[in-house]
Amino acid sequence: MTSSAGICVTGGAGYIGSHACYALGREGRPALVLDNLSTGFSGAVRWGPLVKIDLRDTARLIETLRQYRIKTILHFAASAYVGESIQDPIKYYDNNVLGMISLLKACTAAKVQHFILSSSCATYGIPPNSPVAETTPQHPISPYGQSKLICEAMLRDIAGQAGMAFAILRYFNAAGASPNGVLRETHDPETHLIPLALRATQGAQLPLFGTDYDTPDGTCLRDYIHVDDLVQGHLLALQHLEKFGGDLTLNLGSGTGVSNKEVISIVEEVTGAPVSLRIAPRRPGDPPALTADITRARQILEFEPSRSDIYTIVADAARSFGLLKVQDAKSA
Ligand code: UDP
Repeated sequence: MTSSAGICVTGGAGYIGSHACYALGREGRPALVLDNLSTGFSGAVRWGPLVKIDLRDTARLIETLRQYRIKTILHFAASAYVGESIQDPIKYYDNNVLGMISLLKACTAAKVQHFILSSSCATYGIPPNSPVAETTPQHPISPYGQSKLICEAMLRDIAGQAGMAFAILRYFNAAGASPNGVLRETHDPETHLIPLALRATQGAQLPLFGTDYDTPDGTCLRDYIHVDDLVQGHLLALQHLEKFGGDLTLNLGSGTGVSNKEVISIVEEVTGAPVSLRIAPRRPGDPPALTADITRARQILEFEPSRSDIYTIVADAARSFGLLKVQDAKSA
């Protein structure tokens, strides 16, 4: 039993959740972590207590939120592989949507006051224009994106009725790692470009999905945001909710598009080693270009990414795997 927490991070044993707990810990606000450890790592939970729980266990969830006197939830726990969601959509609706319903029931019962939802640019599907503003119609093209869109709708309806202040944060491509090497991006299986390109300097081979897109170099454009900047966006959103209440819906990205080929060449530069790659067919569900219009986050939260240039992101990721061969300006 503790009286301290007040803040709960679901999925705090995962990549973004653990970086959020680290930042909250540095602010003197250690968070209770709820995680079923299906993809997260207990070793990444170091700044507050860990309760191993499946979010669909509503009764135990209510008991736990009450026990730790939780008033704020940062909800990261979710299945988050676009490709897997196409193969196994039931898993995504079950884990993401039922998990969210259960969590919202528990929040209502435990009188939680602030809720921050990890949503995704995958809710936009293939947008007509890029950069994408929050007002762009959402037409997801994967069960993962659809599950996040449903979570957004449920949060609006249920939080609105329960008087809970909330923020919906639509992430673009989270990447990188804390520069001091405390944490790293670890997924099992790994499907993301930057960690896979780093591995492909060490004997593995990277499939480059599609070189015939209608983009400047034929490969997809993505908007990479450093995980520390992403977490900073959450802290700013939380401060805003604590001060003003209400609700927010914001994109969190860098505002810049980077091609897959550019990422690969920066990986080669910072590691000093060639990326072994093979050209592969397009991956189903991949939009050609997805970049964020972050004007709203800038205006409302004064959000300003500071480590989200692609060189710094890749250098931080390489360092976290012990593969950095050059010193980047920001950590020199
Ligand atoms: N990508 C790739 N090979 C891989 C993994 C990813 O070419 O092994 C490409 C992918 O097709 C997309 C970009 O890298 O164009 C970013 O993919 P990632 O899975 O990192 O993030 P997503 O944009 O799907 O969230």
